[in-house]
Amino acid sequence: MKLENKSALITGGNRGIGLATAQLFEREGARVAIVGRDAAAGHAALATLRDAIFIQADVARADDCQRAVTETLCAFGRLDILFNNAGIILRNRNVETTTEAEWDATLDINVKSIFLMSRAALPHLRAAGGGAIINTASYVGLVGFPGLAAYAASKGAVVNLTRAMALDHAAEKIRVNCICPGSVETDMIRHAWELYGDVTQAAQVWAAKHPLQRIAAPEEIARVVLFLASDDASFITGAALPVDGGITAG
Ligand code: NAD
Repeated sequence: MKLENKSALITGGNRGIGLATAQLFEREGARVAIVGRDAAAGHAALATLRDAIFIQADVARADDCQRAVTETLCAFGRLDILFNNAGIILRNRNVETTTEAEWDATLDINVKSIFLMSRAALPHLRAAGGGAIINTASYVGLVGFPGLAAYAASKGAVVNLTRAMALDHAAEKIRVNCICPGSVETDMIRHAWELYGDVTQAAQVWAAKHPLQRIAAPEEIARVVLFLASDDASFITGAALPVDGGITAG
């Protein structure tokens, strides 16, 4: 097992990529705290996990982030891995059609949360003798995409925040990396298909954008997060790893 005796905190762990990662981390021996805003989804997620805890928290709030870390420490006695994964997307908006409130919410939940959660977690990763932080960016953090102004800005920021944190904490044996997924079959993408209108056709259009001609299952992203969290990635820090079916290769 790759994460034996490790403790992990996963934001946005109550569904989608975060839940798939929580399930895989448990299978690899970790104890897992999942953080999300929605209590019903959190408790439904817990039913699919063996030994996890759910912490209801808003990752855009400093006090909630501090409490999530404290509750994880109380439950497991240590913290080794932080997966900053919670995020929202605002579609069909350019800078003229994005409201200031929408801009702020996107940047707060997608970027500021990483600052807040990492700030709360770092002393404990250090106390554990080192650790791993993995941030969820997006392929839209590496290239532009029409109609995603706030989201693209937020994910680009995640990529470069990851690099800055990697340099700041390398000497403390804390590795910081991010993943840049292509489209993944979660509620986030299903909502995009609903906005498109014809869900079946939308699924085909989304698949065709990727050179591999399909979108990813959440487990395919989880396996890469596991790699970055584990000693298999012991010499990797500051990386922005595309997990995108080749979409940014061209
Ligand atoms: P999802 O909508 O299923 O999950 C998002 C998660 O974030 C949920 O658990 C939700 O509870 C949580 N969340 C949102 N706002 C929060 C807040 N303020 N406080 C606490 N939790 C909050 O979507 P997903 O696809 O699993 O998304 C996970 C991450 O992957 C996001 O950062 C997203 O931007 C990124 N991503 C997704 C795709 C995709 O195609 N699905 C592609 C690239 C990147």
